[in-house]
Amino acid sequence: MVNKIGKIEKLLTGEYQSPFSRKNIKLPIDEIVITSSILNYQFRHFEKFENKKNLIISGVNSFKSLGNKVIERFNQEKIKYEIKILENYQSTVNYASSIASSLKEYDNIICIGSGSVIDLCKFISNQNNQGLFVYLSSLSAAATTSTVSLTEDGIKISVKSKIPEAIVIDLDNLKSAPARLLRSALGDVLCRTTCQVDWLTSHFLLETFYDETPFALQYEDEKILLNHSQKILTGDEETFAALSRMTLLNGIAAIIIGSTHAGSMGEHLISHYIDMFMGDEHPGSLHGEQVGIATLLLSKMQNDILNSSKTPQFLEINYDLIIFENIFGKEAGSNLHKQFQNKLFTQKSLTDINKKLIKNWSDYKKTIIKFAVQTDKIKKSFINCGAACTNGDLNIPDDFFQNAVENAHYLRDRFSYLDIMQYLGCIDKYSKNLI
Ligand SMILES: [Zn+2]
Repeated sequence: MVNKIGKIEKLLTGEYQSPFSRKNIKLPIDEIVITSSILNYQFRHFEKFENKKNLIISGVNSFKSLGNKVIERFNQEKIKYEIKILENYQSTVNYASSIASSLKEYDNIICIGSGSVIDLCKFISNQNNQGLFVYLSSLSAAATTSTVSLTEDGIKISVKSKIPEAIVIDLDNLKSAPARLLRSALGDVLCRTTCQVDWLTSHFLLETFYDETPFALQYEDEKILLNHSQKILTGDEETFAALSRMTLLNGIAAIIIGSTHAGSMGEHLISHYIDMFMGDEHPGSLHGEQVGIATLLLSKMQNDILNSSKTPQFLEINYDLIIFENIFGKEAGSNLHKQFQNKLFTQKSLTDINKKLIKNWSDYKKTIIKFAVQTDKIKKSFINCGAACTNGDLNIPDDFFQNAVENAHYLRDRFSYLDIMQYLGCIDKYSKNLI
């Protein structure tokens, strides 16, 4: 059986040389397999299950979707295992810690799941120093990131964790995944462009570190998805393979650069804001769906600025502590306010940044615009496979979404076009006239 991991193969062997940093990159993952069916594939990592206490952890739906197939394959190889299905699990530090301490006796955690189940398994195996093997029941970048996203005291935090030793995607199984999950996966990967434009702009204006490598690994597959997203609905294996690679590369990016700048910028801040503040009103929209609609909005902001003949000139913004406290509460507000200073242009630095913009913006723009994709092109890709394009499509009320667009930049010291629109005094043009 063929492994369709493409360029990822060289990242596993250490043969991949970044055309930008000229460094060879070797991922700390032993095996990644994207194949038509796991039933016909000879996995190298199976030998690590021999004579070990193996525990399969899965969610109810994930197990329904892929559990039987994995078990069939394990039985063929006479692999011994126990199964724990997580019901009503929570993505909180408290829940993850308590479950970790009840599962110390196992050598290996075998995760069948996506998103939050993977995050829990990463946390558990890291806590207990266990082997971790992930079989993806639907596409999720969580498999390849080294951090987990959990909630502590109501605030989403990123906790350092473990990278799996092996990651497996079964393409036949993906084809039977609900279309909504696949559209969500598409929404989460097409933020390549908004992340790159945000990060490169941040590099020019704030002198933050920047590396094109993680993006360059994705350009080819992104082209397939921008042009042929409708094939997601017809089960085309090559399109699925492209979507799978891009999803994994989105997480791998974080391993390469040591941060999530290549996969989580302004568009993700909006999605995080929705998850943090909608509470009981949250319509159950998925991460990738939220990121997708926010990507269209960020892309519009970026293209408007990059295609304008005007040189941006920043105005002073109000960043009083009280604003943060009103939105996030006293303690979290004070922490976020402190963190915000890292990307803030104060009255003094505004003069410098405005001078810098006058002097260099046309050069910056020429470089940045190469990595921008026209908003309509992204939108067409969403429409062609029936994915959501607006907050209304996700049943997120306009007034809430307006707040999300206007306040999301307070969440993190990550500089994006959400900040730029604040400095230009025109964020309401986007928050009030939603696309
Ligand atoms: Zn994401």
